[in-house]
Amino acid sequence: MDTKDHKHTNHREYTLEELNARMEIHGVDPRVTEYLNRCIAFHTFPAPGLLIGAFMVDYALELLGARTDEKLYAVCETHKCAPDALQVIAHATYGNNRLRIVNVGKFAITINRASAGDSSDGVRVYVDPKKLARFSTIHTWFTNSPDFNKKTMNNQLFDEIFSAGRAILSSERVIVKVEGKQKWKAVTCPKCGEMVPDYSVGADGVCAACGPMGYYEKIG
Ligand SMILES: [Zn+2]
Repeated sequence: MDTKDHKHTNHREYTLEELNARMEIHGVDPRVTEYLNRCIAFHTFPAPGLLIGAFMVDYALELLGARTDEKLYAVCETHKCAPDALQVIAHATYGNNRLRIVNVGKFAITINRASAGDSSDGVRVYVDPKKLARFSTIHTWFTNSPDFNKKTMNNQLFDEIFSAGRAILSSERVIVKVEGKQKWKAVTCPKCGEMVPDYSVGADGVCAACGPMGYYEKIG
């Protein structure tokens, strides 16, 4: 940031220490403060959606009566920021295959326990537009309004997120369809010579990377 501009607008984003002081001032529960700090460390910066995501995960866990050390499954309805709150707090990660991104573009999450059957009772938590009306800065940011100025309004947004906590969220009980583990065997792709699960081979007989999912070209 330009130093002159910085002085002129007198705006600088809160440091991590200042963020923590703001959490305390706004009465954020110490449990959530700890979640928020772990999320920020993992995500590498305090993205507003990540912070709201941490409140969402905390709320969903409470409604489900679940502990963070249980084996939990989660769905995130956006790929933006919120998935990291599920990974860090509920340990439902992309890598352990307990986190699904169903990218319908909603700021919503669902958490459920493991199930032997083909469904599981879960809790869905979402940002409720009706409740956002009381929080004008969050509303302006959330709706991607041109009135939101990241350079001058980010701290105000942080304050409002900490002050609102769960007040912008609603929840519902849901039944989540559970997908069983797929059986597979390894096959060698005739084009690249690398091995893939048989279900990854397309109708063209080559692996998905040699087919429609190719994302690179070799150099030299
Ligand atoms: Zn291949």
